[in-house]
Amino acid sequence: MIQPMSTLFLRTLRQDPVDAEVPSHRLLVRAGYIRRVAAGIYTLLPLGKRVVDRVAAVVRAEMDAIGGQEILLPALLPREPYEQTGRWTDYGPELFRLTDRRGGDYLLGPTHEEMMTLLVKGEYSSYRDLPLVIYQVQTKYRDEPRPRSGIIRGREFIMKDSYSFTADDAGLDRAYADHRQAYQRIFTRLGLDYRIVTAMSGAMGGSRSEEFLAPTPIGEDTFVTCAVCGYAANEEVAEVMVPPRAAAGQPPEAAGGPGGHPPVTRVATPDAPNVEPLVAHLMAAGIPLTAGDVLKTLLFRLDTGPVAGPADQIAAVLVPGDREVDPDRLATLVAPRRATLLAEPDFAARPELVRGYVGPVGLGALGIPVFADVRVSPATAWVTGANEPGHHALNVVVGRDFTPERVARLSAVAVGDPCPVCGSPLALDRAIEIGHIFQLGRKYTDTFGFDVTGPDGAPQRVTMGSYGVGISRAVAAIAEQNHDDAGLVWPAAVAPYDVHVVPVGRKDEVRAAAADIAARADAAGLAVLLDDRGVAAGVAFADADLIGVPTIVIVGRALADGEVEIHDRTTGHRDRVALADVITRVTPADGTARVAPVGAAGSAAGRA
Ligand code: ATP
Ligand code: MG
Repeated sequence: MIQPMSTLFLRTLRQDPVDAEVPSHRLLVRAGYIRRVAAGIYTLLPLGKRVVDRVAAVVRAEMDAIGGQEILLPALLPREPYEQTGRWTDYGPELFRLTDRRGGDYLLGPTHEEMMTLLVKGEYSSYRDLPLVIYQVQTKYRDEPRPRSGIIRGREFIMKDSYSFTADDAGLDRAYADHRQAYQRIFTRLGLDYRIVTAMSGAMGGSRSEEFLAPTPIGEDTFVTCAVCGYAANEEVAEVMVPPRAAAGQPPEAAGGPGGHPPVTRVATPDAPNVEPLVAHLMAAGIPLTAGDVLKTLLFRLDTGPVAGPADQIAAVLVPGDREVDPDRLATLVAPRRATLLAEPDFAARPELVRGYVGPVGLGALGIPVFADVRVSPATAWVTGANEPGHHALNVVVGRDFTPERVARLSAVAVGDPCPVCGSPLALDRAIEIGHIFQLGRKYTDTFGFDVTGPDGAPQRVTMGSYGVGISRAVAAIAEQNHDDAGLVWPAAVAPYDVHVVPVGRKDEVRAAAADIAARADAAGLAVLLDDRGVAAGVAFADADLIGVPTIVIVGRALADGEVEIHDRTTGHRDRVALADVITRVTPADGTARVAPVGAAGSAAGRA
């Protein structure tokens, strides 16, 4: 097909949109791929629709290749199934709930485990019917607390979600492995740089789960990797080796267990409510220590409802002074309650809690549970707040002077922490989550009592997996990883067009040569964008760079020598090519890099 730019529904913008903070958002708006309708809600313009369709076509082809069958469930769903699994409530304010004219409760699907389970339960009854993989490419709704970065985090977005139904755990392992491989092929074909990391299962339930992450500095996820052994995990679940801790100011052997620690001593530490001034003060007083010898006691309010008025409960979280609390891990520990750092009004209401000088000793008696990081191990001694203004306590020993109610991995992983597998220093990087695969097990089939008859005639509980790809988010992730100062630079497999033909000037022979190249490229099965607008060369070039079709054919001065210039946006390379050779040059050498047109839905079929 040939798309003349003169009639393309497109207006590029010279200015960055004011609300756009990240490059992909800025460029997708400026180059005319998307337009904002409301927070986290976007319209796809023709260019954007084409890229989304091409990404979806790759996803569909790879899902079909592992035996997946495409269906389409409604987005508007009844409350009851979600009530049964508890997600009507557990999803919290993220769920879009609505009421129909009869007062019935409905929701806009954030993900479809409930409906898929019920659907298959309604049709299948024997182990012989399994395994089954069904999927859909569908619009999902989540009232995200912080919709941002354009289509990276939308409140309405397009997801491919698939679901496997198998007779046993071995079947689930196979379906999971199939999806894992299909996802590797998908993201490779999409030209994405990605990592597979161990992940948390979250509201989805189930056991094994991995995320596919596209590294980029603007990503909202952080993941850890070990360059030596390949360990990779989302920071929310990353393990680290915890080396045994020496007691403050002395080697571990000198400490000799809880009995070997000197008794707690109170010291005056005026104006030292934070770790740094405290360490400086004690050092000056001749007590050698580092921030890692101090125990930070952070107070959080735990609330079920809104965070206003008195807290439902207050809890203390203990981490070493050189560590930060990981908010995600704390959230998991206290869920479904929400943890918020104690603020001034909370302290005012509880004068026994001395801001800046809180320590763990005696908190239990005040009804404040103590949650300790794993590093705060039994028999270790720490410097803590003394619960008295301007005072700290030395030699506070875990298990002797206080006992934590819960011990969990609560401190954030830091760059250089030892890898849990091999001990080498870990790296931390940011990324966008583009896919997520889960072994759900029997969470949903238990709820809905989905059994099939086994080979022995006895009922057998079905095992499930669920697997998501953020289609619209992947488009933004690709843009995030593939752009330069001038604009987008699409990988060939997902570009809205294969070639962008730009005639320079209005001379008839130039325009005729450009039209001829477009016609020949079209005949060769390529999708062509032809700049027939007759605009100034500078404008045409700027738009071509902005739009990001990877191969730009410039018809201009070189025409006098029977040649055109080919600009490769990916490499920046510019090359003169004889008119006769243009089509061979612009046809992707590797046919697999392009979307398989045969039978594929959407615009891919139209392109063939
Ligand atoms: P996140 O942690 O980023 O909120 P999630 O873990 O809630 O994502 P899943 O429930 O695993 O996401 O959904 C599957 C895929 O759908 C994700 O891997 C992601 O690519 C995509 N996705 C999730 N939420 C959004 C959103 N708000 N906008 C666009 N894509 C999304
Ligand atoms: Mg996820």
